[in-house]
Amino acid sequence: MKAMILNKVHDLRTEKNPLQLVDMAIPEPGEREILIRVSVCGVCHTELDEIEGRTPPPVYPVIPGHQVVGTVEKNGKLAGRFQTGQRVGVAWIHSACQECSFCCLGNENLCDQFKATGRDVNGGDAAYMTVSEDFVYLIPSVFSDYEAAPLLCAGAIGYRSIKLTQLQNGQRLGLTGFGASAHLVLKMVKYKYPDTEVYVFARSEAEREFARELGAVWAGDTIETPPHLLHSIIDTTPVWTPIVEGLKNLEKGGRLVINAIRKENHDKDVLNGIDYPVHLWLEKEIKSVANVTRSDVSQFLELAAQIPIKPEYQLYELEEANRALVEIKEKKIRGAKILRMRRESK
Ligand SMILES: [Zn+2]
Ligand SMILES: [Zn+2]
Repeated sequence: MKAMILNKVHDLRTEKNPLQLVDMAIPEPGEREILIRVSVCGVCHTELDEIEGRTPPPVYPVIPGHQVVGTVEKNGKLAGRFQTGQRVGVAWIHSACQECSFCCLGNENLCDQFKATGRDVNGGDAAYMTVSEDFVYLIPSVFSDYEAAPLLCAGAIGYRSIKLTQLQNGQRLGLTGFGASAHLVLKMVKYKYPDTEVYVFARSEAEREFARELGAVWAGDTIETPPHLLHSIIDTTPVWTPIVEGLKNLEKGGRLVINAIRKENHDKDVLNGIDYPVHLWLEKEIKSVANVTRSDVSQFLELAAQIPIKPEYQLYELEEANRALVEIKEKKIRGAKILRMRRESK
């Protein structure tokens, strides 16, 4: 089968082809696993963190890709949850131990044995992939494969971020950064919290314009001051300035949720500007979002189908994965980037 593999850490500023197209054997599903014939796989900013070494794969080579939509091709000996031909998705959570204290309390995203699809084990940038049948979701029929893929990461993690803000209907929410996940958050919030006003901080005017079109009551630059303090803020940027600015704009007792697997370091010195009474006192909180759980993914898919949320997307062939990644690096983003697998004979 055709697959794109990552062999080592790369500097994407100079290396524009970090992934290599290879031909390899179709994997065999383990006893409780299924083999999925991949139809599409989304490309995500987190893959830049993997490639550039901020959250590197433990073993090389690895097939990246953690927003996978395809059909069940084959069940492992003891797998029986799905039938051949059913349309399913795989998200960032590839597995967790299901036994530790975190897993038992529904926090499998924090499990020590957490394995991420496309980083710790092979993902979906390939014609086929295997995964435990317990970590797979049926895709609601209202979505095309292309529409479903970005929901599996940006949407699910956005859903978890909203949950962690503990937002109540009518409270003011800020979104700092306005990429794929923040768009979906805005759409979800408009539906679930109709009296909540959303304030968007984004560096480009095009993004701010888009935010207003989608229903933000205010959109400004990262360092602008909104007309009101905000009860919670979700940060989806890779840097630190929005954190410091966001804390300043938080209401008393407010919470800032950082939805980023890693932060880049180039503006880290702004943290020295944190002034306790301005940025933290009066019970302001900072919380990060780590990974997703299966219930985040399945609850979000159900909500997205109800609303319905149909993400914008841009299509690439599997072989064009490097171009899609470099465009994310260069912030040439118009909708979610999706790799399409050409049908191939086995
Ligand atoms: Zn992702
Ligand atoms: Zn566990």
